[in-house]
Amino acid sequence: MCVDEEGFEYPSVNTSECVNCGLCERVCPMLNPGASKIPLKVCAAKNQDEGVRARSSSGGVFTPLAEAVIRQNGVVFGAAFDDQWNVRHTYTENEKGLEAFRGSKYVQSKIGGSYLQAREFLKQGRMVLFSGTSCQIAGLNRFLGKEYPNLVTLEILCHGVPSPMVWQKYLDQKKKECRCTGIRQINFRDKKGGWSDYNVVLGFENGKVYEKPHRKDPYFRGFLKNLYLRPSCYHCRCKNGRSGSDLVIADYWNIKNVRPDFNDNRGVSLVLIHSEKGNRLFHSVSGNLNFIETGYEECLVNNKGFAEHLSENRKRAAFFKKLKARHTKRAFLMPFSLMRRIKAMLWN
Ligand SMILES: Cc1cc2nc3c(=O)[nH]c(=O)nc-3n(C[C@H](O)[C@H](O)[C@H](O)COP(=O)(O)OP(=O)(O)OC[C@H]3O[C@@H](n4cnc5c(N)ncnc54)[C@H](O)[C@@H]3O)c2cc1C
Repeated sequence: MCVDEEGFEYPSVNTSECVNCGLCERVCPMLNPGASKIPLKVCAAKNQDEGVRARSSSGGVFTPLAEAVIRQNGVVFGAAFDDQWNVRHTYTENEKGLEAFRGSKYVQSKIGGSYLQAREFLKQGRMVLFSGTSCQIAGLNRFLGKEYPNLVTLEILCHGVPSPMVWQKYLDQKKKECRCTGIRQINFRDKKGGWSDYNVVLGFENGKVYEKPHRKDPYFRGFLKNLYLRPSCYHCRCKNGRSGSDLVIADYWNIKNVRPDFNDNRGVSLVLIHSEKGNRLFHSVSGNLNFIETGYEECLVNNKGFAEHLSENRKRAAFFKKLKARHTKRAFLMPFSLMRRIKAMLWN
């Protein structure tokens, strides 16, 4: 995999060893999209454990699903921060390891060797829960090329993934502002102000804390306004059932209109059940959840994550041009001052 100038990884073919079998193109979900599907069932759900729900981005449904798999001697794959605060896919075989997966990280995670590792566990007969964005699940299913009864795929509904390079530049800037190179905690979705008015929080080793409402944080604003998503995210071909996932989890933003009595502003998960396998896993943990069934059309409202076509921010090219042009101290300051300048455009 090679990193391009925008910070995204792409596969590179070693032409001296390539035998032209065409398999890489046949498994690419962007070149061969699946058909869209309506879910079998739609639920709004809240984890009954308020501590876990508070530490999760939505209603905290991921944790009990993953714990159920671990209890069956299974393996759970998910996205975690590494020691440099990059986001990588990895796996855990115990409940303690699930903590690193909890909470959304709004950066593209590196899939690394996780497809190969998952296939090894599947061949050994271990149960595997693989969680990832729509394209990561589509990629896994095509890579495996066959159904495994011991695999459950958990799709994280995804508006689009920001560039890992922009993320690192943002962290560099925050480290400078807080005069500390050591970060000890990052939370994109701190719910102290409520589920809908979450804050971005960075905790530093010198005790300083950066805390901003997400709408005022430059990185989050740029993410929500499609300034530096991966180019393929603007025309995603893996959402809306196309990935072949068993379950999809998301924020149920429209619950406030659908069932206001169910919304306590501490987080409500949207769960889309696409298969009998997914249905069995979800119902096996229903004792840990408060949940209700709702219609499909109403869950799509107020959620950009379902959009297959996102409009690219018209400042995207200028943003990356500035980022590329500078390699000095101002290299990371410029793009964010650019973001400040386009603030009015972004939020009007
Ligand atoms: C980049 C991104 C964009 C999203 N966009 C939307 C959206 O537009 N609309 C919407 O309703 N929901 C969106 N979500 C999903 C939402 O933020 C929650 O992750 C989801 O509802 C699960 O919440 P939870 O409370 O059940 O569990 P949590 O504990 O909060 O979620 C943990 C799960 O998220 C996975 N995860 C975390 N970061 C990543 C990552 N970078 N890549 C892959 N998997 C990751 C973990 O592996 C784990 O499976 C997005 C998530 C990500 C990562």
